[in-house]
Amino acid sequence: MKRISLLGATGSIGIQTLDVIREHPEEFKLVSMSAGRNMELCRQIINEFQPELVSVQEKDDAERLKPEFPSVKIVYGLEGLEETAVFPKADVLVNAVLGSVGLKPTLEAIRSGKTIAIANKETLVTAGHIVMEEARRHNVAILPVDSEHSAIFQALQGEKEKNIERLILTASGGSFRDRTREELHGVTKSDALNHPNWSMGAKITIDSATMMNKGLEVIEAHWLFSLPYDDISVLLHRESIIHSMVEFHDTSIIAQLGTPDMKVPIQYALTYPDRLPFVSGTRLNLAEIGKLHFKEMDLERFRCLKFAYDAGRAGGTMPAVMNAANEAAVAAFLEDRITFLQIEELIERAMENHSIIETPGLETIQQVDRETRNFVNSLV
Ligand code: NDP
Ligand code: MG
Repeated sequence: MKRISLLGATGSIGIQTLDVIREHPEEFKLVSMSAGRNMELCRQIINEFQPELVSVQEKDDAERLKPEFPSVKIVYGLEGLEETAVFPKADVLVNAVLGSVGLKPTLEAIRSGKTIAIANKETLVTAGHIVMEEARRHNVAILPVDSEHSAIFQALQGEKEKNIERLILTASGGSFRDRTREELHGVTKSDALNHPNWSMGAKITIDSATMMNKGLEVIEAHWLFSLPYDDISVLLHRESIIHSMVEFHDTSIIAQLGTPDMKVPIQYALTYPDRLPFVSGTRLNLAEIGKLHFKEMDLERFRCLKFAYDAGRAGGTMPAVMNAANEAAVAAFLEDRITFLQIEELIERAMENHSIIETPGLETIQQVDRETRNFVNSLV
């Protein structure tokens, strides 16, 4: 029995993680969790899974929940997130919270020796050097939840790092993959939120449309698999059937295939190195699919991917700046305050405006994150 602490239980990944837990009651137990502001769903989850510790974003919500659930410890805010991440009864932390608030809880969980199943991209993007170093020091496994990294992780089982030629991350292309840059003028929020293959949270769906999602994944892959950026490539693959691949020096390529269902990589992160049957999902029918398509990635069309390579190669605080600028810009877009193309303009300006600080500590990263958000919001 694995005892799980789940950050971001009310989100897209969180809900699918709960599906996996529900489908394997002999294997998994939810012992602690966090929610943001969705109290209705939070109440439902508490009732069904009976966790011992629950953290919510706002103090007022915590005060309201306490009398309703007298046997549950209710905490709140960033401190609450950290308390949930290190809950002593949990073996595994699934970090599916959105945004750079996910970083500190991950670090605390590593220090308390928990296995980390990481969905929260911002953790590795903003502070990969600190997170991986802490994981090494505490001998803690960082298991990828994202489908691309899970695919690469699976392809690398039993393989030696020295034999890798390159990683090939696949990208569906997002909502606007068939449009030229000119055709991106005037696209709306609901166009952008209409992803062709995957059902995900709003922020990451916009990130898929701008290709920033793939950019964040390139930076995560750099840290997770300790490879230079020159050895990480991206390939457009509109069907999202091949979730990513590894090419070796002998020219062999190993790919992982599956239906576009996040529950598969979530479950693998929870069962690794074992596997469990998949309870509710469809099997891949390749004969029915018939054809798979691949296309070179155009970095002029998808400028956010170029920004991510630039930020990753520049290193230091630059990835944190890029990430914070993107979070602020996407939030502004989702509030109808800027246009779609202004997302990338704002990221570019924030990166141009920043002087890199090499090997930043956690506080520097958090400060740069705040400053960048303020800078972007002042331009909005
Ligand atoms: P969602 O927006 O669906 O969910 C985010 C979760 O985080 C919710 O539980 C939300 O609470 C909570 N939350 C948001 N802000 C805060 C905050 N400031 N304090 C505390 N809790 C907060 O996101 P996704 O599930 O789509 O994504 C989560 C993470 O996983 C992201 O980093 C994303 O990039 C990554 N990821 C997602 C994938 C996907 O398929 N969705 C695939 C791979 C990675 P509430 O809703 O209650 O307010
Ligand atoms: Mg992904």
